[in-house]
Amino acid sequence: MSVKKLSENALVSFVDCLLSTEKVEAVQAKGDKFDFGPLESAKDLRLDYDITLLPPKKYFQPPVETLLTYETEGVYKSHYDNERFILIGVHPYDMMAINQMDKLFSQDNYDEHYMTRRNNATIIACDVETPSKNVFASSMGTATVKDGYDILLTNIGDGYVAEAATEKGRSLLSKATEAVKVSEQDLKKRQQVWDKNQEVLNNHPLKCKPSDLPKLLEKAYEHPIWEEKAKTCFSCGSCNQVCPTCYCFNVQDDVSWDLKTGERKRIWDGCLLDGFTRVAGGHEFRAKRADRFRHRLYRKAKYVPAKIGGQIACVGCGRCINACLTDIANPISIYNKLVEDIGID
Ligand code: SF4
Ligand code: SF4
Repeated sequence: MSVKKLSENALVSFVDCLLSTEKVEAVQAKGDKFDFGPLESAKDLRLDYDITLLPPKKYFQPPVETLLTYETEGVYKSHYDNERFILIGVHPYDMMAINQMDKLFSQDNYDEHYMTRRNNATIIACDVETPSKNVFASSMGTATVKDGYDILLTNIGDGYVAEAATEKGRSLLSKATEAVKVSEQDLKKRQQVWDKNQEVLNNHPLKCKPSDLPKLLEKAYEHPIWEEKAKTCFSCGSCNQVCPTCYCFNVQDDVSWDLKTGERKRIWDGCLLDGFTRVAGGHEFRAKRADRFRHRLYRKAKYVPAKIGGQIACVGCGRCINACLTDIANPISIYNKLVEDIGID
């Protein structure tokens, strides 16, 4: 482990140094909101952001990607993104979501396309400075993060504590020539930031422990809340698209007009969308909107946790709450209603 301190100016010099040799993607302002995008100058970096419009999952699972191209004679070529890049400004809850995605895309069927991008990334995470309106990371145990990143930056008021957690991170941090040694006082201030974030990133407190949720849902399948909420659901899929832990996709073939060549693409899909479960023969096994609405919540707190050692697949970013036009997507309001009606044993 290597820990250093960078002043604001030292951070700008460090990022400009990275920009001179590397591809850098980072959080920047987009009107009055924020998003990840290609960084051209260190002065555009905004580590004081509240939340990005889309989570950083798009760098590992892009909205549309070419898996392979083929000739109908039988020759095919797989495509991989081999470009190295640095991703700056990943908040702890998004880092936890990436850690979950890493497990899902590597544990049973190792996904070369996802993992190639992931292995080519160097992640510089940062602790939250400005809580967003709908964040509830404190409730989900994701207000701070201990692994997954290569470097973690924490703003302690008079500069940043930068901790390198991997060899890639140490090698990168060695380029911060204006960095200085951290003092005991700096580390204490960092701990205070972590302690504070455990408390304040909680604008929708959950009325039970996250680990209670799978059991709660076992008893909630027939609860009327699914029908009630679904009455005003547009099936727009926005809650899926903005979620850092939603990873469902569809695979489509585009065949050329002369039927000689084709391209196989992987495209984001969403369980709330009409037609998500339509299969061969036109059969649709989750056609009802209320069933799709229920499925998203079960997936977050029961089905995916069963695959990844019990971790709840909602990291409390609050993006689905921001995105839902009819204000029904908030997982906490649903889980809390179930806690009130059914109770935790
Ligand atoms: S379900 Fe909503 S709050 Fe939870 S991780 Fe997804 S977008 Fe964020
Ligand atoms: S964002 Fe809201 S309206 Fe759209 S699919 Fe999700 S729950 Fe339904």
